[in-house]
Amino acid sequence: MSEKSRICIIGGGFGGLYTALRLDELPWESRQKPEITLIDKSDRFLFSPLLYELITEEMQSWEIAPPFAELLANTGIIFHQSSVTDIDIEAKKVTLDGDKKIDYDKLVLSTGGKTPVDIVPGAKEHAIPFRSLSDAYRLQEKLRLLEEANPDKIRVAVVGGGYSGVELACKLANRLGEKGRIRIIDRGEQILKDSSDFNRETAIKALEKNHIWQDLETEVAQVTADSISLVYKGQTDIIPVDLVLWTVGNQVSQLIDKLPLAKNDQQLLKIESTLQVQGRDDIYALGDVADCYDTEGKPLPATAQVAFQQSDYCAWNLWAAATNRPLLSFRYQPLGEMMTLGIDNATINGLGLKLDGPMAYVARRLIYLYRLPTLKHQLTVGLNWITQPIVELLSL
Ligand SMILES: Cc1cc2nc3c(=O)[nH]c(=O)nc-3n(C[C@H](O)[C@H](O)[C@H](O)COP(=O)(O)OP(=O)(O)OC[C@H]3O[C@@H](n4cnc5c(N)ncnc54)[C@H](O)[C@@H]3O)c2cc1C
Repeated sequence: MSEKSRICIIGGGFGGLYTALRLDELPWESRQKPEITLIDKSDRFLFSPLLYELITEEMQSWEIAPPFAELLANTGIIFHQSSVTDIDIEAKKVTLDGDKKIDYDKLVLSTGGKTPVDIVPGAKEHAIPFRSLSDAYRLQEKLRLLEEANPDKIRVAVVGGGYSGVELACKLANRLGEKGRIRIIDRGEQILKDSSDFNRETAIKALEKNHIWQDLETEVAQVTADSISLVYKGQTDIIPVDLVLWTVGNQVSQLIDKLPLAKNDQQLLKIESTLQVQGRDDIYALGDVADCYDTEGKPLPATAQVAFQQSDYCAWNLWAAATNRPLLSFRYQPLGEMMTLGIDNATINGLGLKLDGPMAYVARRLIYLYRLPTLKHQLTVGLNWITQPIVELLSL
């Protein structure tokens, strides 16, 4: 039995990485400081709100996906790049890659969600989700091949008119220019149903300006290698496409699915206001895997903003539990929403501020710069943004 208590965090995204970093900074007395272990299947953290910028090459992968080794240097956090394949919550052991085992005293579950692409026939084989760095690389490669083939038009169907679908469609319109024939498909009566009126109206203007069609009240029935079947008011249309992107849905992984813990009907973990899983004071859950509510009992969306705010509480409560202090109840502070609407365009509505166009584009960039993990990474990226235009000018 180790002398130090052991905190194991599974998933190094907005919930897990920021919990680990905050936990490491808290004022531990040296004999109390636990061993903090962070496990992620990837070698990099992904700042997903900036993933779209890879499509237009406005940003590079090192900026939005820094390696954990870099982010955790100079901290006491132990990092394992492994996939957690099993958790024995009674024996308090996690299994890595089906083999190595790690013991813990406290566990943090922050494995995020996945995009379900198997709801419609053919989608799994032919549609590309847009959630991870490898999805972005897969899309870039497909675009490269299409651009190389140089057809008259490149026809793209983006399934889902939520934030991801709209943001992605705008960036694709920038990249493909005149060649692009882009449509957004959504079963609802309008796009961005959870968005503020200001952001929705600004987004609709951006879609119109970029000639992006909206197929509303439309269901996808099937995807093939070169077509998509759409059902509108009972009538099916088969439309030829070169590329289908799938942005709808959020599902927990099989790892969470099989855990004998309290869950809601979407398999999200039920948590107390302290972020402890119901019935388990040794297990915390946050971010997209957790069933979260605001103080008025309204469900919270699966966003980085929620996971990021929870990470502060999660770290604090782990520290409070270890140092015999009272635990805090999570209180969500809605800070508004931002969306990219293409190169040099964005929309922001929050904290009494409504901005669109290039000003919103710059403000969004600066807010995200401030949110990047670690001061060192913020400075490196910020410096690159300042120097890059000068380097480009000099190389002309
Ligand atoms: C393209 C895109 C744009 C977005 N834009 C915004 C935005 O503008 N604003 C906003 O608030 N939210 C946005 N979101 C949502 C936001 O990214 C998520 O809500 C947020 O990342 C959730 O944080 P998390 O910690 O729960 O999960 P994640 O950040 O997804 O992290 C989960 C981590 O767990 C790891 N993992 C999973 N399973 C295992 C396993 N078995 N073993 C080891 N590691 C594992 C993964 O590799 C990943 O690193 C966006 C999402 C996407 C995909």
